[in-house]
Amino acid sequence: MIQAPRGTFDILPESAARRKVVEEQTEKILGAAGYRRIETPTFEATELFSRGVGQATDIVQKEMYTFDDGGGRSQTLRPEITAPICRAYLEHGMHKLAQPVKLWYLSSCFRAEAPQRGRYRQFWQVGAEAIGSDAPETDAELIVLLADLLDALGVKGTRLRLSSLGTPQTRAEYREELTAFLRAHEDELTDTVRSRIDLNPLRAFDSDDRRTQAVMRDAPLLTDRLNDEDAGHFAQVRALLDDAGLVYELDPTLVRGLDYYTRTVWEFTSDELGAQSGVGGGGRYDGLIELLDGPPTPGVGWAAGVERMLLAATDMVPPAELVDLFVATAKPDGRRTAFELARDARRAGLQAQLELAGRSLKGQLKHADRIRARFVAIVENGHVALKDMASGEQRELNAREVIPAIVRGDRSL
Ligand code: ATP
Ligand code: MG
Repeated sequence: MIQAPRGTFDILPESAARRKVVEEQTEKILGAAGYRRIETPTFEATELFSRGVGQATDIVQKEMYTFDDGGGRSQTLRPEITAPICRAYLEHGMHKLAQPVKLWYLSSCFRAEAPQRGRYRQFWQVGAEAIGSDAPETDAELIVLLADLLDALGVKGTRLRLSSLGTPQTRAEYREELTAFLRAHEDELTDTVRSRIDLNPLRAFDSDDRRTQAVMRDAPLLTDRLNDEDAGHFAQVRALLDDAGLVYELDPTLVRGLDYYTRTVWEFTSDELGAQSGVGGGGRYDGLIELLDGPPTPGVGWAAGVERMLLAATDMVPPAELVDLFVATAKPDGRRTAFELARDARRAGLQAQLELAGRSLKGQLKHADRIRARFVAIVENGHVALKDMASGEQRELNAREVIPAIVRGDRSL
């Protein structure tokens, strides 16, 4: 039997209902703050990610699904959606719109990772981006909006970690300082960390090796090297979050997996999730648009994993699906009337289903009960018996009286 590829999954109707809650809450919460939905293509030129996400990142080095499009061009299934949105911002001249341009998305991403709980090869991200403003209110607002979303979905055990990465120049200088520090302690580091000193020294903070961790306790911290402007920006973001009553932990070792972040970075984790604890995170990316050949343009945004949010929202119960009317047929010659009645009911705005499996009348009533239909219309010769499933009461009506009776929520049956 052919099965879905490893690390992918089918979204069956039961889980579609929970995912719909994510979509509705995102729309509501981000919509209320003026964010509008965007959808970009599933694949993009590979260069967009190698430049935009960064050559040194895990994503670009080992997680991308890259293919030749048949015309000699290298394309990649999107591993993330910030770079595509910045591409779209430039391609559609969105810098001419009122700034910042505030966008949200809910789309699938693809990463060639070892599948496990909460880690898939095709997964969905919901995210928000504000491009064209460097005001600290933008950073704080986006963090608050993500906190509100996690809250509205009932994501449990959340924690927020926060840091600032400064500007590219501060980062470059700090990177040299950190590289020199790591070189001086080279023989106390794991092979992986050592092999990455030049490529991505910041990753040394992520190591789960004891000796490496001991070395890193004395390592210089980027947050101690921020210039006055960046330190001031970060202080303002924190003050706004404090005023909003948001609890966070300052973590100067917070390293986000993407190269393009500047200034504020943050990550929400959930204690419900075990090893894959990251629920969603984001940061400011003031250099990204320029990296993609655009004019200097500040930006900030976040992405959260739909599956991880749902795994941690253990109590979420999606609203029950409603069926107002099930149309049953007692005799074969009622089938055309039944078909017409179901169609008219839907046109009148009711949720109406028709018997489609040739069940006996008894079987049809049982089925109507199983799908929790409020009413069953049993079509007989020339008339309809309308049964209220809650009270069990039943009365005979003309076919054309059925829909008005249901719309009235007829309790006088
Ligand atoms: P992780 O540290 O778990 O690999 P990440 O830093 O790679 O996460 P981001 O690139 O920041 O994650 O993506 C944002 C969110 O997307 C994550 O917080 C997570 O919820 C979700 N996510 C990332 N990779 C996967 C995946 N392979 N499967 C499911 N969800 C994922
Ligand atoms: Mg990852």
